[in-house]
Amino acid sequence: MVGDDGRVTTSVVVFGSCNMDLVAYVPVAPKQGETVTGREFRTVPGGKGANQAIAAAKAGAETRMIGAVGGDEFGDEIRRVLQDSTVDTRGLRTAPGRSGTAHIVVDDGGDNSIVVIPAANGSVDALADGDEAIIAGSDSLLLQLEIPQSGVVAAAAAGKRNGVRVVLTPAPAVPLPEDLLREVDLLVPNEHEAAVLTGHDDARRALPALLELVPEVVITLGARGCVYGNRDGVRHEVPAFDVQAVDTTAAGDTFVGVLSASLGAGAEVPEALRRAAAGSALSVQRNGATSAMPDREEIDRFVA
Ligand code: ADP
Repeated sequence: MVGDDGRVTTSVVVFGSCNMDLVAYVPVAPKQGETVTGREFRTVPGGKGANQAIAAAKAGAETRMIGAVGGDEFGDEIRRVLQDSTVDTRGLRTAPGRSGTAHIVVDDGGDNSIVVIPAANGSVDALADGDEAIIAGSDSLLLQLEIPQSGVVAAAAAGKRNGVRVVLTPAPAVPLPEDLLREVDLLVPNEHEAAVLTGHDDARRALPALLELVPEVVITLGARGCVYGNRDGVRHEVPAFDVQAVDTTAAGDTFVGVLSASLGAGAEVPEALRRAAAGSALSVQRNGATSAMPDREEIDRFVA
């Protein structure tokens, strides 16, 4: 597809989670039974699904979000933030009850502890009317594991049936069923998730083990960059950009969103990996998850 500015663009659909992150900043996190006085409180729309949708849309992909929020003020806010980032939310349902929330305590050392309450995300356990048409009309389908696995499997199968590139971020890390893996074209775990899936802490060992499960893999390695491999024996190692990170929340989601937008728009794999590394390097230098994500022009300037 060629956009208004004459550039090739692509369409991405995300089938996944939306949360409101409720973040308390404290000097020292409370121990069990203890109460501490915090410094600041922020609400930030998040969830891996919404994060990846916003990253892909900002990177230039025509993006749709399928999922569910609750009929509460958090749901309205999540929907608004997605729309402000040009994400099409016609596939985003309003489920009875509350939106998903993540209750996060961040201490001065940057360490955090998190309680996630899936709430509305728990209702995304199958395809709803119209979902298959949205998936079929897209070039890439982005999946994560923050909704019921039955929903992820149903969406992946719809992607495969319709010739859509199925991209899975296997987070949170759990062993994956065979009926899901056989639908996946590209798996993008971080180092920890790759270790859980393969038993290998070393990405160079995990990569071939993952390629026995799916045809194409990128393992992200935080500030050490990423490694890519496919079943034809192609390998790429792409270093991270050397930047001062202040908040690495959603670095991996930014990476996947930008990678999918770039591959779909026709970039070769090494260039798409470099743009993904650039997008996440830009985002980790700023506070906030979705608000820190760069747009396509900023990525263009950074990689130039
Ligand atoms: P996740 O957020 O899923 O744990 P990673 O931490 O592996 O994922 O980060 C994903 C990508 O983000 C990395 O491959 C890298 O390109 C980029 N990145 C992450 N942390 C940094 C950092 N400190 N400096 C520069 N780039 C980073």
